[in-house]
Amino acid sequence: MKFCSHCGRPVSLKTPAGDHLPRHVCEGCGTVHYQNPKLVVGCVPEHEGRILLCRRAIQPRLGYWTIPAGFMENGETSQEGARRESREEALAEVEIGSLLAVVHVLHADQVHVMFRARLAVPQFGVGAETSEVMLCDEADVPWQDIAFRSVDFALRQYFEDRRLGLEQHHFTTFDWRKPAA
Ligand SMILES: [Zn+2]
Repeated sequence: MKFCSHCGRPVSLKTPAGDHLPRHVCEGCGTVHYQNPKLVVGCVPEHEGRILLCRRAIQPRLGYWTIPAGFMENGETSQEGARRESREEALAEVEIGSLLAVVHVLHADQVHVMFRARLAVPQFGVGAETSEVMLCDEADVPWQDIAFRSVDFALRQYFEDRRLGLEQHHFTTFDWRKPAA
């Protein structure tokens, strides 16, 4: 960040009084521009034992498979966000179920929240950010071509819980930050 989004003057990095981290502080109006993790919400839609996967038509990880997921918007719950992403990416109407996974992705400053979901009717299509959508048995999941490690984690926990007849929630952390120079 170089300029203040309020007044357009330059910002500089300094630790405000009483704070514990350097922030972008406007030299003009004094606004402190905080940067906090972004929330990504998604779901694993199931229909008669098969799950819905989307092939990405955009970067990053173009051509790889994922579940419907994306950045949460202001004014919606995480469940509403996951439903919206299913609509946008897979043209699918899903009913959001229990919490599946919370993944802290420290190197990307993101938290991924994934739910179980039900696709009542097998109606879906190719959304704007997607090149292909499929319903897939566990045996056919393209594990080598899953777009994101958080999605791989959520899917593995999903199938493991299903075998156990449980709907647990799972937490994990990925941290690929480079050590400080
Ligand atoms: Zn300013």
